[in-house]
Amino acid sequence: MSADVIDGKAFAARVRTEVAGHVTRLRTDHGITPGLAVVLVGEDPASQVYVRSKGRQTAEAGMNGFEHRLAASTSEEDLLALVNNLNADPAVHGILVQLPLPDHIDEALVINAIDPAKDVDGFHVSNVGLLGTGQKSMVPCTPLGCLMLLRDRHECLSGMNAVVIGRSNIVGKPMAQLLLLDSCTVTVAHSRTRQLPDVVRQADIVVAAVGRARMVRGDWIKPGATVVDVGINRIAAPEMGEGKTRLVGDVDFEDCSRVAGAITPVPGGVGPMTIACLLANTLTACCRVNGLEEPERLTA
Ligand code: NDP
Repeated sequence: MSADVIDGKAFAARVRTEVAGHVTRLRTDHGITPGLAVVLVGEDPASQVYVRSKGRQTAEAGMNGFEHRLAASTSEEDLLALVNNLNADPAVHGILVQLPLPDHIDEALVINAIDPAKDVDGFHVSNVGLLGTGQKSMVPCTPLGCLMLLRDRHECLSGMNAVVIGRSNIVGKPMAQLLLLDSCTVTVAHSRTRQLPDVVRQADIVVAAVGRARMVRGDWIKPGATVVDVGINRIAAPEMGEGKTRLVGDVDFEDCSRVAGAITPVPGGVGPMTIACLLANTLTACCRVNGLEEPERLTA
């Protein structure tokens, strides 16, 4: 068997086009332009790349982007003051504080200072609670992207066995909650899980969010299962030349492709969905605050 490759890049482009269409209608029919504020503290190179890409895609979707780049030495007090200003700014519908923050800043304090209605990352404790109790919330972007890909692949997820590997607050736990809300039977595995390959072998759906290069092997996969690889790991690639590196997921793509029914590649799978869902969340936040109908297909 050779698995269907789920093209996250193409799917994300469709989501962005859909978002852009809604943005145009919001502007022409209601005179409203959704706005996303991104706050970056310090000079973490990976974060700078993400923020640049978020800025570009925000503009391409026709939204207003507000970028705030602060020095690594910025005090917690000053960052909280900026968050409060953004909370009060009616032109800003979504606020994203790029993580990680420097060590002297309490991440939880800052995230929980964001107005939950503008918390487009879905990390505020109110949104975590709303998602956990099945109420309308802002849903974290990466798990939302995975859910969209899974719903596109399967007409109905109800009753399927899902194994999520990883229990982080930003990916594993919200992913498990979303799958539970879609009536999957969900197992959350982590570093203490016993007989992980046997656990994974029960799954119709596997979501790997571990941070370990190519950990999930083909003989862990139930034939025909759908495998979603969230992992982004940079490994040495001497075959591409001296000192070269490349990105791989948490799943051994070649090995698992022989057994799975469908699989996301890395790169080009879940990664592009994350920013597309950030734009979708900003649009959703804008519709909600203005009492307008929210785009159904772009939310959980
Ligand atoms: P974390 O490090 O926060 O969590 C990793 C999880 O994996 C933990 O729950 C940990 O268990 C578990 N784990 C670690 N080792 C093992 C093991 N040997 N067997 C089973 N479980 C294990 O990572 P994140 O959730 O933040 O990210 C996971 C991956 O996804 C990373 O590669 C990251 O780069 C990528 N990522 C990709 C995004 C995208 O846009 N595509 C967005 C966010 C993340 P325990 O809790 O017991 O320690």
